[in-house]
Amino acid sequence: MARIVQKFGGTSVADVERIKHAALRVKREVDAGHEIAVVVSAMAGVTNRMVELTSQISSMFDAREYDAVVATGEQANAGLMALALQDLGVQSRSWLGWQIPIRTDGAHGKARIQGIETDELSRRMAAGEVPVVAGFQGLGPDNRITTIGRGGSDTSAVALAGALKADRCDIYTDVDGIYTTDPRIVPKARKLEQITYEEMLEMASLGAKVLQTRSVELAMNLRVPVQVRSTFVDDPGTFVVSEDKIVEQQVVSGISYSRDEAKITLLRAADQPGVAANIFGPLADANINVDMIVQNVSEDGKATDLTFTVASGDLDAAVRLLEGAKNDLQCEKLIADSGVVKVSVVGVGMRSHAGVAKTMFTALAEKGINIQVISTSEIKVSVLVSEDYLELALRALHTAFGLDDSPKEES
Ligand code: ADP
Ligand code: ASP
Ligand code: MG
Repeated sequence: MARIVQKFGGTSVADVERIKHAALRVKREVDAGHEIAVVVSAMAGVTNRMVELTSQISSMFDAREYDAVVATGEQANAGLMALALQDLGVQSRSWLGWQIPIRTDGAHGKARIQGIETDELSRRMAAGEVPVVAGFQGLGPDNRITTIGRGGSDTSAVALAGALKADRCDIYTDVDGIYTTDPRIVPKARKLEQITYEEMLEMASLGAKVLQTRSVELAMNLRVPVQVRSTFVDDPGTFVVSEDKIVEQQVVSGISYSRDEAKITLLRAADQPGVAANIFGPLADANINVDMIVQNVSEDGKATDLTFTVASGDLDAAVRLLEGAKNDLQCEKLIADSGVVKVSVVGVGMRSHAGVAKTMFTALAEKGINIQVISTSEIKVSVLVSEDYLELALRALHTAFGLDDSPKEES
């Protein structure tokens, strides 16, 4: 007998029929003798609708009320799932974040889970009851409802699995596992049997939305085995595991992309100490995260061009700030460009293999794709390219790194 947390994402519980179907998945594990806790997302599209409503009703952004509104989708689905389970003869009860409670910090809209009280849930699970926990929400220090960031039900599930000392956390979604890249864009994407926590952490933070980044970080720290699998197809999914469990390691395991990128270039900024601090200081103070940065060598020793990226949503605010400080920066011109995407190749094998950057740049050059900015870390290489080339770049790189879904002996 195992203790398993089963999490169902928005498309898996998008309507009554699908909730009933997901409930059958739960019942099957219960009938197999396992102790089960369920975490549900809101119906697909509902959270977006709630976000839209808050912005329609008021331009004043009050994060506490935002959370009170956007957390509602999960509340409804927790109750509906408990009803569906009861209908199948499975004892079940819904639980909201505050009822457990799932305690978080007070950063409304992007709160972090700090602790989950599990005594009551554990007792009920041992007695055969299936708790259905509303994902995405918790209870802040001021006793108000918090939410933990978009896509956060993954993190609720992993945190609950950790607190319950579950044997596994199964993330049920609309794909049957983690692929070498987004299968919606690259039809030749291949399903991975396993991926390391570290690689998945990079893939997620570089844009692969299949798991929320924080959920992978938490799974890695708490050593929770995670399986991503399909609600609709019966095959086993992909296991996220520690590096020592991987038998055959590829140099590049996957390719991520992010459309949420914007580029700012400062032309002919003064080339003297303190200028970079003048640029990035105010951005940091305004909570604007800067990602990739390149500064050219200045030809005359007087002025240089500097390019960096921010999240698309921060572009306007960043430009406003920098325009305001243009005199201090002593730059001639500021150019903003939101038509860019970041494409990243990820693999722990990079630590011991040279040549990844060369293969990447050659594959892009052969397709005539210009690289605007480059950044690297131990296990990834990222490039910024025009958004027009996203699909072409992904497909070319997927082929260049031998990831295409074709029988092994052919390659
Ligand atoms: P859920 O609503 O179940 O949480 P998400 O939409 O958040 O589902 O995540 C699943 C989606 O993630 C898939 O439909 C797929 O398009 C996308 N995705 C992006 N990158 C990958 C990848 N490498 N492997 C699998 N799916 C990916
Ligand atoms: N419903 C929330 C969202 O859409 C949380 C989740 O689905 O994981 O972001
Ligand atoms: Mg998701």
